[in-house]
Amino acid sequence: MRAWVVSMPGPIATGPLRLIERPVPEPGPGELLIRVLLCGVCRTDLHLSEGDLPPKAPDVTPGHEVVGEVVAAGPGVVRFAAGDRVGAAWLAGTDGRCRYCREGLENLCPNSIYTGWDIQGGYAEYLVASDSYVYELPKGFSDAELAPLLCAGIIGYRALLRAELPAGGRLGIWGFGGSAHLVSQIAMAQGAAVHVFTRDEKARELALGLGAASAQDSFDPTPEPLDSAILFAPVGTLVPPALAALDRGGTLAVAGIYLSDIPELNYQKHLFQERTLRSVTSNTRGDGEEFLRLAERLHLRVTVHPYPFDRAEQALADLAADRFTGAAVITM
Ligand SMILES: [Zn+2]
Ligand SMILES: [Zn+2]
Repeated sequence: MRAWVVSMPGPIATGPLRLIERPVPEPGPGELLIRVLLCGVCRTDLHLSEGDLPPKAPDVTPGHEVVGEVVAAGPGVVRFAAGDRVGAAWLAGTDGRCRYCREGLENLCPNSIYTGWDIQGGYAEYLVASDSYVYELPKGFSDAELAPLLCAGIIGYRALLRAELPAGGRLGIWGFGGSAHLVSQIAMAQGAAVHVFTRDEKARELALGLGAASAQDSFDPTPEPLDSAILFAPVGTLVPPALAALDRGGTLAVAGIYLSDIPELNYQKHLFQERTLRSVTSNTRGDGEEFLRLAERLHLRVTVHPYPFDRAEQALADLAADRFTGAAVITM
């Protein structure tokens, strides 16, 4: 089968990916062999390709928003069978035994593994995934629309939970790509006023089209104090202005797995009055199930940009340069 691999992590312009041939993998105990129909392109794939995230395996295949069809099942599989359509996402496995797993915080499991980082991902014709960690796909979406739900959507949803947005509250979103355009629709469906901050003019248009209360440049002042904020852009210099935009008691959640350095904070300006700064780490399977059910019920509008399999590297380059709005997907 054909598979993209990260061979020499570095700036995307230097061509860090390579297209190789490798044998179709065999499903082990509890595993499914999945034929990839489509794979979404996530910013984490870019961080991995560029070396911001150190690869955990040589020649790892990125991709963790996989819409596929089960073609074979290993021994001990109980949830899915050949012919089922499933979604394979970022969280690929945990130990199920540590104190975090036992407390319902499997996203913090120190032995967790991730699709397209620890194990081979979906920029390939086939992959294997754990029967216990893949998702049933929600109805009412095209295959292309499903892909971004599987990471952009799920992680964005956890970020929204971590931002503790009160009902009918005021939410600020910094960066408006795959995650933000999905999560903002959930917040608005819950009655929130959403204010978007992004340097990208087309993304501002998309935000307003989806019903955002306002859209402005990244460093512009907020039209009103915010109860909650989510930072999706991997840009540490946005942390102080996002904190300064919070009302008393407000919360800023940093959604990404990677963030450039945060500059010095001023206690009075950025944190006092019980403002909270917190991170978001991966997600639990519970977050994923809950989000996918919500996506179906709310009929989220998904903006996708398809790229043929051969142009996966171009999709990442375009993501790096903000050349599309919404989410890119690689089609087989
Ligand atoms: Zn654990
Ligand atoms: Zn992702």
